[in-house]
Amino acid sequence: MKYVLSDEEGDNCIFCPEDDRVEDEKRLILYVSPHIMVIMNRFPYNNGHLLVAPVRHVSGLESLSDEETLELLKMVRRSIDILKEIMAPEGFNVGLNLGRVAGAGMEEHMHFHIVPRWNGDTNFMTVHGDVRVIPEHIKETFKKLRPSFDKIPITSQGSIE
Ligand SMILES: [Zn+2]
Repeated sequence: MKYVLSDEEGDNCIFCPEDDRVEDEKRLILYVSPHIMVIMNRFPYNNGHLLVAPVRHVSGLESLSDEETLELLKMVRRSIDILKEIMAPEGFNVGLNLGRVAGAGMEEHMHFHIVPRWNGDTNFMTVHGDVRVIPEHIKETFKKLRPSFDKIPITSQGSIE
């Protein structure tokens, strides 16, 4: 599971870019609402590995409001639905690493990992290795997933329906 944890990018928080959090292929941001964002892990454990985070830079569940907690879980559910529809995985690993000792790579900004799984996918990372340039297959997956994230209905208050 080493690569699941490797979501650091220098000193900057990957969920808090210095410029606006616009949906962006270069930064692999699939979705942003007032509360929640979804990005693709550029060091994926498997194809379609997504990170779902609150927009606020908080380290643990105890720092989330009830509204953020609800939105976060709704977004995890939506993300799984979209992955099912677009990529037809046979299962998922969904999880939260809290604190560095638990393996959180970006421990200061909590996030859920959603990893789609297929039979026989265990060698994925040994093929792709550790690269700084976003591999082409991740960009391709981004393009496949993005239209579905664009279609997620939002209430006038900015909540996920
Ligand atoms: Zn952050």
